[in-house]
Amino acid sequence: MLGTCKLCRSYGELRESHFIPKAAYKAIQQSSGSPPVIIKPEVLIQKNEQMVANILCPDCEQRFAENGEDWVMKYCGRKGKGFKLKDLIDVSKPVVSAESGGLKVYSASGIPQIDVGKLTYFISSIMWRGSVHTWKSGKDVSVTPVLGKKYEEELRKFLLGKAEFPKNAAVWVDIIPPNSDVWGFVTTPYGGKQEQFWRYQFLFLGISFTFFMGNRIDPDVRRFCTFRSPEKFLFVGDDATEMLARDISRSIKESKRVCVPSLRRQGE
Ligand SMILES: [Zn+2]
Repeated sequence: MLGTCKLCRSYGELRESHFIPKAAYKAIQQSSGSPPVIIKPEVLIQKNEQMVANILCPDCEQRFAENGEDWVMKYCGRKGKGFKLKDLIDVSKPVVSAESGGLKVYSASGIPQIDVGKLTYFISSIMWRGSVHTWKSGKDVSVTPVLGKKYEEELRKFLLGKAEFPKNAAVWVDIIPPNSDVWGFVTTPYGGKQEQFWRYQFLFLGISFTFFMGNRIDPDVRRFCTFRSPEKFLFVGDDATEMLARDISRSIKESKRVCVPSLRRQGE
């Protein structure tokens, strides 16, 4: 198929790109022996239904794989294949260990194997592809992040290697313990614009990403940004894990009573 690549904007062959990496579906299928559970804000899919579209040229597909996805697939949690990211955290000492909520904060700056640049690139690529295209899951339009033209463009330049990570973006990375109910889950990013800025949550095989965007991001959010903080903070916390479990069980419950033939993206 010929067309204009949404990332580098060159005209030529376009590949079939996935909104949620194909490797994740495969990992779930292999580990559980049953189709993946993909949670969307209003719909639960429990079959091998993948969201695909021809939006990227082969070079940009490769860029996404090399700069983010390959690393994340190697270090994420996969049943029977371990959880490298968590193993690395487990042998290091937390810089903060809170009394309540079981929160532990780790610094990845002293752990050279942890590439926070790859984690950041990966979540940025998920957010960007969600925002620049109306993805369909089967016949339904999937609710995906809507970041607006300005931030889409900032992310596009970053993903292309032509700009730094946008100054109005921040990311938190949480590690989900393997004993959690939501450990092997993958969601599409959910959230939206809060009063002052955008906040999205994305759960991917043991790793929970919180992505912030907007010029009014709280200073504390920036201070704890996994990518930007000198300490390269990573979090492990029962409270965060429980919150995710609650979000997901709500999605599952809602999908049982809501039959959605089609969803429109926010703002359309
Ligand atoms: Zn391209």
